[in-house]
Amino acid sequence: MESTFKFDQKNVRQHHYFLLLSLIQKNKRVSRTQLSNYTGISKTTVGKIIKDLISDQLVIETGQTNGDLGRKASLLEINPEGAFIIGVDIDTHLIKIALVTLNGKIIRNETFSQEVRNKPIQTLRKLVDIITFFINKNDDIDQQKILAIGISIPGLISWPEGVAKQIPQFNWSNIEIRKFLMGFFSFEIFVDNDVRSVLLAEYLFGGLSHYQNSICIFVGSGFGSAVMSEGKILRGYNNTLGEIGHTTIDPNGALCDCGRLGCLQTFICISEIEKQTQKRFDEIIFALNNSEDWAIRVIERGLYYLGITISNEVCMYNPEAVLLAGPFFTKLASSFSNIFERLEAEIDHHIWLPLKNTFTLVSPSLGENSGVIGASAIVLNNFLKSYSNLHIP
Ligand SMILES: [Zn+2]
Repeated sequence: MESTFKFDQKNVRQHHYFLLLSLIQKNKRVSRTQLSNYTGISKTTVGKIIKDLISDQLVIETGQTNGDLGRKASLLEINPEGAFIIGVDIDTHLIKIALVTLNGKIIRNETFSQEVRNKPIQTLRKLVDIITFFINKNDDIDQQKILAIGISIPGLISWPEGVAKQIPQFNWSNIEIRKFLMGFFSFEIFVDNDVRSVLLAEYLFGGLSHYQNSICIFVGSGFGSAVMSEGKILRGYNNTLGEIGHTTIDPNGALCDCGRLGCLQTFICISEIEKQTQKRFDEIIFALNNSEDWAIRVIERGLYYLGITISNEVCMYNPEAVLLAGPFFTKLASSFSNIFERLEAEIDHHIWLPLKNTFTLVSPSLGENSGVIGASAIVLNNFLKSYSNLHIP
C-alpha cells in the first residue's frame, strides 16, 4: 500500500509552515495580519507560506474581517477536506476505526468486535485486516491526503516507539505494535495511551481548547490520568506520567490486579468495585438508585477517594481544568443529578485552601467516538507539537 506523503518532502521541516498551520488550527479563523502581528513573521513571508498552505489544500479562505485602514481582510481556516487521519481505537471489546479531518470531524467510520483473550499476534493481524479493509472500502479518498495512522490503546505504551510495555486488560507485555504495523503500511504510525488521547482530543477539538494546563482523570475498568502543561502533554521518562491508579493508598487494603495491596484503583475503578461486590456495575447503580445501603457505601467510598485524588493532582500539577472521563462518570450521572457538585463538595473537604476554586471540572464533549478522534489527535498533535500552545489573544 503505497503513499507518497507530499507534505513530508519539503514542507515538514519548515518551521513557519507548521507554526502558521498550528495557529490556524488552534484559533479556527484568523487573518494574515493577525498571524503576522502575533508571530513577528513579516506579512510578505506570511503571505507566501499561506499561499503554500492553500495550494497544499490544508487551508482555505473563508469570510472576511476588517483589516488595515478599513480594508477587508480574508479569514483563514483549516480545510476540512484537505487532509485526513486514520484513527483507530482499541478497547477491550471493540476496535473502532475512522477517517478524521484536521478539525476532528469523523467522515467515515466502522466498528469491529474484538476478543480480549486473543493472543497479541491474532489481534495485530486483525488490526492489519481492519485497516486494509477500511482503506480499500474508502478508495474514493485520495491516499496522498492521508497524513498518518493514529492508534489509541489502554496500558503502558512507550513513546514514540509504540511498544505496549504492559496492557494488563489484554494480558500483553512488550508487544511492538508500531513496528508490526509499519511492516504492512507505508503511512507513518503513532501509538499512544488512551487517556492521553482523550485529553489531546478535547484540547485540539473539544471543550478543553482554551485550557493550556489541564489533567484528565479517566475512570473505567482501570484508573488513569494524563497531564497537559502549557499546551504540552507531560510524559515522564517512560511515558507513564499520570498513571496514578497504582499509587498505594492503603498498604493493608484489597488485592489489586497488579498483585499489590490497596492501590488507588481498588477504591474507585469499575472492575475492582465489581470484584469486591461480586455484582456488575449496572447492578450496583441500580441498587444505588434504590438507596440500598451497601451500594451507597461503596460508591460514596469511591467519590471520597476521587475527591482526595483530584485535590492531590491539583496540588501536583496546578491545572486550570480537570476533565472527568470514562464510564464511571457517565453511569453515575443517572444517580446524581449533578455529579460535579457532589464531587466539588468532596474536593472542598480535602483541597489545600490557596488552590480552592482555582480550577474547573469539565466533562468530555466529544461523545462515544472520542476514542477514534483521540487517536487522530495523537497524530495531529505530533505534527503541530511545538506550536500547539499558541493562542492569539
Ligand atoms: Zn495496583
